[in-house]
Amino acid sequence: MTDTVLVSGGSGYIAGFLIRQLVAEGWMVHTTVRDLAKEGVVRELLAVDNSRVKFFAADLNADTGWTQAMAGCGFVAHVASPLPAGVPKDADELIVPARDGALRALRAAKAAGVKRFVMTSSVAAIAYGRGRGVHTFTEADWTDLSKPGISPYVQSKTVAERAARDWVAAEGGELEYCSICPSVVLGPVWSRDYSASVMIVRKLLDGSMGACPDFGFGVVDVRDVADLHVRALKAPGMAGERFIASGRFVKLREVADILRAQLGSEAAKVTTRNVPDWMVRVAAHFNPLARAVVPELGSVRHQDASHAKAVLGWATRPIEQSIVDTARCLIDLGIVKI
Ligand code: NAP
Repeated sequence: MTDTVLVSGGSGYIAGFLIRQLVAEGWMVHTTVRDLAKEGVVRELLAVDNSRVKFFAADLNADTGWTQAMAGCGFVAHVASPLPAGVPKDADELIVPARDGALRALRAAKAAGVKRFVMTSSVAAIAYGRGRGVHTFTEADWTDLSKPGISPYVQSKTVAERAARDWVAAEGGELEYCSICPSVVLGPVWSRDYSASVMIVRKLLDGSMGACPDFGFGVVDVRDVADLHVRALKAPGMAGERFIASGRFVKLREVADILRAQLGSEAAKVTTRNVPDWMVRVAAHFNPLARAVVPELGSVRHQDASHAKAVLGWATRPIEQSIVDTARCLIDLGIVKI
């Protein structure tokens, strides 16, 4: 394989694993960072053959750099999008870069003659706004943004994927577009600048999550998410495809139990307590993170990944392994002090 692929957001958690797998499989990789001052540190952490990766400066909020980054690329994995640990006051802080950045990347890809554009979307674009209860979601579902209480991040991913699909339908020409929709991504951490998703395990391990609210999420391993992107870049007939990338749904309570069962004394600070729903509702009056959890309380949202398994031969690790590997890395990197 000597194709060249652009991976946007090369400093990110998922992008790091993706770039490593692509280089290992023989691809040439172009990648973007907001500021080329990051290139040295990202190269060091990636620890791949430097001659196979070229860095370009490009921000989702500006046109500069995307044309240069795409030149010579037959494929794009558009991974970059803001994923903050907190909740911004203004949803546009996330929606605008997510949507406009995807459109910038698409326009530059078409102009450069890119064949295929794989976009990292999220189950955030699939599984929200459906009310409480037990639901099973597939790729046919879309988050209902007309419902109240949808978080800025969920809005940003839904708006961005919709805008990308609409643009491709209207103006994409021969460009093949497909999306990958991961649930909460865990697994080994390759940088101290880790993704917000890893924060859940960090807060349990360091004891700052003093009790578990009754909410949960699908979990998927970062190595499996990278692998699904590579499969979607290589397989024939991907135009219009959408793939959920998720292992099983797990309640936060169970994540805490897995950590304590598997890590012994290293999980001594992991809570054994639960927070009653009423207390989360009270906290929601002054805490934006609690506010984001309220619509989730008591709900179970299975995300069915059978399409990726059937069409792309994809497989996932057990979520227990991803959870424990996250914790191990956080301890080994000194991010969590035991
Ligand atoms: P991450 O480590 O925070 O990576 C996000 C990347 O986006 C970083 O490289 C970041 O660059 C870049 N970025 C953010 N704002 C940007 C801007 N204005 N211009 C250019 N680049 C910008 O998070 P991740 O987990 O790898 O997420 C990657 C993708 O997967 C995102 O699209 C996210 O929505 C999606 N996703 C993640 C999860 C999850 O649980 N982690 C689940 C579903 C979907 P800087 O390093 O400069 O900030």
